[in-house]
Amino acid sequence: MGRHTGPVCRLCRREGTKLFLKGTRCDTPKCAVDRREGMPGMHQFRRGKSSEYAIRLREKQKVKRFYGIFERQFRKYFYEANRKAGNTGDALMSLLERRLDNVVTRLGFAVSRPQARQTIRHGHILVNGRKLDIPSYLVKPGDQIAIKDREHSRKLIATNVAEGAPPVPEWLDRISSDPPEGRVSRLPSTQDVGLPVTPQLIVELLSR
Ligand code: SF4
Repeated sequence: MGRHTGPVCRLCRREGTKLFLKGTRCDTPKCAVDRREGMPGMHQFRRGKSSEYAIRLREKQKVKRFYGIFERQFRKYFYEANRKAGNTGDALMSLLERRLDNVVTRLGFAVSRPQARQTIRHGHILVNGRKLDIPSYLVKPGDQIAIKDREHSRKLIATNVAEGAPPVPEWLDRISSDPPEGRVSRLPSTQDVGLPVTPQLIVELLSR
């Protein structure tokens, strides 16, 4: 699957919120959202009220950019969520949160989702003792996430863990930091996402 290769701070400025795409820099005064007001581009301070459609579109774009996925893949998640019983918006957020690149970031083994994606693609991550190099893999309760037993892999992850790993959400357990290892204790809910988003608006947009 493709990935965004352009400037990422513009994405946060466009959405008007921190999407944490640059790791440790996002928590420093260098963050572009804190330093620069308005949207990127020459029409930074657009006047007028956003339309109902625009509000819903921005919610969708925010979530896509936060998880680093493109439209086609996002629609697949939506269709899968739509097939599940219960609230579609909650099911959508749960599916996105279960992505392996997100879990690796949440456990503190990478400082950002783009870095987690690269770590996975380079084969440093084991799921249930087996190498898994698919960032979009959806974890299940009971899955064990560990680091390949290789000096290079351990050093790489140890640096990230030492650089101030974030608090682990309730649906995950960090079993140990050295060697880095974690476990999925339950399925995540919308409250576990920690992004200011209203999933119902996305459902309304994509159900049109
Ligand atoms: Fe977004 Fe991080 Fe850039 Fe701030 S530093 S604008 S949170 S990517």
